[in-house]
Amino acid sequence: MAMKIDQDLCTACGDCEPDCPTVSIVTKKGITKINADTCTECEGEYDTPKCVELCPIKGCIIKA
Ligand code: SF4
Ligand code: SF4
Repeated sequence: MAMKIDQDLCTACGDCEPDCPTVSIVTKKGITKINADTCTECEGEYDTPKCVELCPIKGCIIKA
């Protein structure tokens, strides 16, 4: 149960990172990734994945 970032769409803007309740989003060397081992899809924190809400690009963050 995790979300993942479509690298073809992601601009590594970092907008999705600050509000992740599990600190699962990291940008390294210009690539932003979600750690599938810690992402909870925001269960128990938000009704929908916060990163999807924050990302300006539709369809960039999808279910893994
Ligand atoms: S779905 Fe929630 S827990 Fe998973 S990466 Fe996005 S903000 Fe973080
Ligand atoms: S907000 Fe969207 S485009 Fe920006 S780093 Fe996150 S996934 Fe990539």
